Amino acid sequence: MTDLTKLTLAEARKGLKNKEFSAVELTKAYIAKMDADRDLNAYVCEVPEKALAQAEKSQEKINNGTAGEMEGLPLGIKDLFCTKDIPTTACSSILKGFVPPYESTVTSKLKEAGAVFLGKLNLDEFAMGGSNETSAFGPVVNPWKKERRLVAGGSSGGSAAAVAADMCAAATGTDTGGSIRQPAAFCGVTGIKPTYGRCSRYGIIAFASSLDQAGPIAKDVRDCAIMLKTMSGYDAKDSTSANCPVPDFEKFLHQDIRGLKIGIPAEYRPEGLNSEIAALWDKGIDMLKARGAEIVSISLPHTKYALATYYIIAPAEASSNLARYDGLRYGNRINGTHLDDMYINSRTAGFGKEVKRRIMIGTYVLSAGYYDAYYLKAQKVRRLIREDFLKAFEKCDVILTPTAPTAAFPIGDKSMQENPITMWLNDIFTVSVNLAGLPAMSLPAGLNKDGLPLGLQLIGRSFDEETLFKAASALEEDINFKGMK
Ligand code: GLN
Repeated sequence: MTDLTKLTLAEARKGLKNKEFSAVELTKAYIAKMDADRDLNAYVCEVPEKALAQAEKSQEKINNGTAGEMEGLPLGIKDLFCTKDIPTTACSSILKGFVPPYESTVTSKLKEAGAVFLGKLNLDEFAMGGSNETSAFGPVVNPWKKERRLVAGGSSGGSAAAVAADMCAAATGTDTGGSIRQPAAFCGVTGIKPTYGRCSRYGIIAFASSLDQAGPIAKDVRDCAIMLKTMSGYDAKDSTSANCPVPDFEKFLHQDIRGLKIGIPAEYRPEGLNSEIAALWDKGIDMLKARGAEIVSISLPHTKYALATYYIIAPAEASSNLARYDGLRYGNRINGTHLDDMYINSRTAGFGKEVKRRIMIGTYVLSAGYYDAYYLKAQKVRRLIREDFLKAFEKCDVILTPTAPTAAFPIGDKSMQENPITMWLNDIFTVSVNLAGLPAMSLPAGLNKDGLPLGLQLIGRSFDEETLFKAASALEEDINFKGMK
């Protein structure tokens, strides 16, 4: 029998419909993979019994013709999504023991569509990081060149690694500054961060509320389309969720892209850009050109301020969002002799180093006396960054760039540990997209000389994921990336 975990969502959907295998068989195949690859540390909580019970229910629905759009498809869920009766930790010690009494909107949509949840996936603590090393559960090991112990990227490192290693058919991720796209690139899989407002943030543990978006990480572009359609839609419980129709993204695959205008931003090719990444980018440009797309040079002049802007706004919002973890209401409490003591003890023990760093920066830039100099200034630059994109989209329909400036690096990389800014620099190509609220997708573009995957990023206009899917599907076909052996 073929290995069922190798199937894409689309293939598994078809196989289930045609009764080539059952939902229970499919789920069992994934559970076996989870057992076999536990050393990757991709899952922080596994729920095989619940998954099998759901798979049985799904099979009944398939049998009696009432199957939902994702009926019986086994997924991994980033542990930032609240899941009713399943522990949810954001991979922070401070949330140890927290079992949400409610379900996030995105995961309830997936559930209603019939998806099977295999468990919760590792991430950087509160999604703060780019390597999954800030997780209270320890780092995820990239399944590529496993023996070299490379990072899976972050913050959705568990999601990307689990998809790459066939430990789930697809996974949810979240992206505040690149957390879907960069791990997808590091693990040779595909991920899309939709337009801000496309997916409800209700029940997703907040990092930086004006930047956070949920999205899928999957084996290919079509699977991202399937997942995103189910995850999207207006939700009265999130005041920033957009009340606009959700297209059937699958309809935009394999289309003629003649005349599509592809923007290439000069600022994304800094001197010293890794030559293999630059070469893959050029190859991507040539492929789109060969299909009759028109290549246009564009300029995003405020790109140079993007990282500084992001690393003011994101910590500012984080420091405010994380104020609720006081040891009283959620998770872990460390008692003290008086109330303040209890707050201090709980927060000191509960938060990791990177999270504390961000809280310190955030409270500093929001404090009286520094607010105007840092936070307000950053908000103004954020507007200029968005205006750069709006201007660029007068000349082009979609923008092509690399996803990250490097391939996956070793766990514990010294330079990153000693200077956090080195790690933050890895977000250079992704953060502007969140600051501008735009949709962007990363797809595997090829391997470097060490045999590690590299990603290309497509950026689209607000609420124009359709064009992203159109361009991504063409590129994917030409790149013909093989995935892990
Ligand atoms: N790496 C970025 C950070 O550390 C982005 C994280 C994210 O998108 N959640 O903030």
